[in-house]
Amino acid sequence: MAVLWLKQMTPSLSSMTTNPTPEQRRLDGQFRDQILALLQGWATWPLGRDRYRVSWVNNLVQQAPTAHDCVVYFVHNYTRGVIQATLTTSQATVMQNQLAIARNPSNFREVGLTAAGGSQAHASEVYLGKCLSALRQLRRDNPVFTPRELREYPLLLAMAALHEAMHNKVEPEMPPNWSQHNQGGGGVAGSMIFAPGGQLLGPPGPTQANQTFLQQHFASRHPQYIA
Ligand SMILES: [Zn+2]
Repeated sequence: MAVLWLKQMTPSLSSMTTNPTPEQRRLDGQFRDQILALLQGWATWPLGRDRYRVSWVNNLVQQAPTAHDCVVYFVHNYTRGVIQATLTTSQATVMQNQLAIARNPSNFREVGLTAAGGSQAHASEVYLGKCLSALRQLRRDNPVFTPRELREYPLLLAMAALHEAMHNKVEPEMPPNWSQHNQGGGGVAGSMIFAPGGQLLGPPGPTQANQTFLQQHFASRHPQYIA
């Protein structure tokens, strides 16, 4: 019994401006629908509340996710995310490498971050700015989406959300030396890889092994940070 809650912390998914145009708002709705449909299609974990597995959420305090659920925040970047505000000193020590990657806006190896471990609430976030820049490369400031970007951007966001959900719920259930990036079954468990032109490489979604890990461990009990 578990739900993957998706929480948008920015005015827009498709634009890094604070005042999206009507067209960008229309695109946001389209992307939200596509991300939800992709994740629902990939979800293998036990049905959660009201018999669903994935949902966008407006008010997390009201929804009150259980410790079996997972919350993924969609934020502009690390400095405007939820993790930097919640990280304890001991978590920060464990996560030094990942923090350096997350803080570097031009490092697209990881397009999100998860703080998990100890008795602290787990927090996962996906970086919209990095996802856009990674796909668009030299076109990064062009507000118009090409047909390929329209297809791959929601796909990348959905894959990044599932990648962070695995760090949040699967990795803490594995032995201490287990590495999601190396032993998580490839696919969305590994780092997101891009071709020189910014094309997303690799299988478009979770592998069978990713799905088995999620089925076995997604509903594990870890309290989630609520913002
Ligand atoms: Zn990762």
